[in-house]
Amino acid sequence: MRRWIDAGGNDIDPAGRDEIDWLRALPFIAMHVACLAVLWVGVSPFAVCVAVLLYAMRMFAITAFYHRYFSHKAFKTSRAVQFVFAVLAASSVQRGPLWWAAHHRHHHAHADTARDLHSPRKGFWRSHVSWFLTQGAFATNPARIGDWLKYPELRWLDRFDTAVPVALAIALYAIGAMLETHAPALHTSGAQLLVWGFFISTVVLFHATVTINSLAHRFGSRRYATKDDSRNNAWLALLTLGEGWHNNHHFYPGSARQGFRWWEIDFTWYGLRLMQGLGLVHSLKGVPDWVLAKGRR
Ligand SMILES: [Zn+2]
Ligand SMILES: [Zn+2]
Repeated sequence: MRRWIDAGGNDIDPAGRDEIDWLRALPFIAMHVACLAVLWVGVSPFAVCVAVLLYAMRMFAITAFYHRYFSHKAFKTSRAVQFVFAVLAASSVQRGPLWWAAHHRHHHAHADTARDLHSPRKGFWRSHVSWFLTQGAFATNPARIGDWLKYPELRWLDRFDTAVPVALAIALYAIGAMLETHAPALHTSGAQLLVWGFFISTVVLFHATVTINSLAHRFGSRRYATKDDSRNNAWLALLTLGEGWHNNHHFYPGSARQGFRWWEIDFTWYGLRLMQGLGLVHSLKGVPDWVLAKGRR
């Protein structure tokens, strides 16, 4: 149970152990059950807006930073911006930036082979969520993220990967309780903002993110004949702010852009362009002409 709080000292082979660690998975399961509390706390337009806003902000942090930045180094930024977005992404209950990048790099190295932890060839349930709860998947392989180990603040986020989510939950409860007293017209409360802003928003965010493992390796079109089963899927791209162009991404993972055509909507790419305009990120890697030419259709 110590590992609910402290994930340090966990360096075992991520492909090593396949059993679900039910005790360690309990907080994650409890987070799903807590969504049922909506029956008691009710709903208000304000609480729904907070839930949607936190979904969008955290999805951007996951796709732009956990994925395109920490896993693939598709652009550059300052240490401060790197940290701020690592914290925002860490509030998504998808563990720390080093864990996420290590597992994702492992996925690209072994996509849809026996060593891929979340290939749909192992079944939908395994690719979608149960891989996340296996004993082996709780570990971070340091050999995969040696480039990030020099940042103690990132190592801390990884070791105490429940700290930021708990802080967000407490903050939402406190803000909701304050608004109940000082802005009664909003018809919200501490418990209501906690349930909508944290539990519901985070659970939906988690399941939307992992559709890229479970559905984007099964449903959609294949522009590139990659060795894996990755697909391009416009619906998943809308849901995940651009990650649904997954066949593009498996063919050329180094780009900060995953929608390769003007009509392939990629909100994360637009967000990164905006951040570049504001001077917050730079050196965004684009898609080379030979990649575009090879996939001309
Ligand atoms: Zn993939
Ligand atoms: Zn990737």
